Amino acid sequence: MNKEKRIEIFSRFRDANPKPETELNYSNPFELLIAVILSAQATDVGVNKATDKLYPVANTPEAILALGVDGLKEYIKTIGLFNTKAENVIKTCRILVEKHNSVVPDNREDLEALPGVGRKTANVVLNTAFGQPAMAVDTHIFRVSNRTGIAPGKNVLEVEKRLMRLVPKEFLLDAHHWLILHGRYTCVARKPRCGACIIEDLCEFKDKNDYQ
Ligand code: SF4
Repeated sequence: MNKEKRIEIFSRFRDANPKPETELNYSNPFELLIAVILSAQATDVGVNKATDKLYPVANTPEAILALGVDGLKEYIKTIGLFNTKAENVIKTCRILVEKHNSVVPDNREDLEALPGVGRKTANVVLNTAFGQPAMAVDTHIFRVSNRTGIAPGKNVLEVEKRLMRLVPKEFLLDAHHWLILHGRYTCVARKPRCGACIIEDLCEFKDKNDYQ
């Protein structure tokens, strides 16, 4: 795919949705961090249902530590893998209190050192909470990047690096949200909605005519 096409694709995404946002509910970096940890292999809607009850009661590392693992589980037991996630959240809160003055760090190294935080989670927090250009490649972004030809790659790291290199600078900050939303609602896994897609004429997916 050439540069002009990429510029046109992201211009259309921007025109359609000038201020894209995560669908996770949060009001500060700590709430976002915990929501993203909870969202692994779970839906944003499911996580929001849990955090809408949890955060009014506990939305600081100290308050969640005070709940303890069992207390926290009561709030998140509807989310997949909640046992492991509860342990990780408590450990993360302890490290935040003991090492970071209860403040979420704004750098990759410290974020990735937190239990339950991998590269993807760190990228979401860096991008969404701290406004740093970072590309959290999830299943949606991986699929859209490959199908369209925007940034093809064999694995998520390859796609992440290619997106960072190939997405025109002016779109870099919001690209990750546009691509997720496009994959979630239009370029869906099993039957992409090519007939209703705003970048259909630019997309290089060779089977797109089968999904009109
Ligand atoms: S045309 Fe189809 S395959 Fe291409 S981005 Fe749109 S929905 Fe996805």
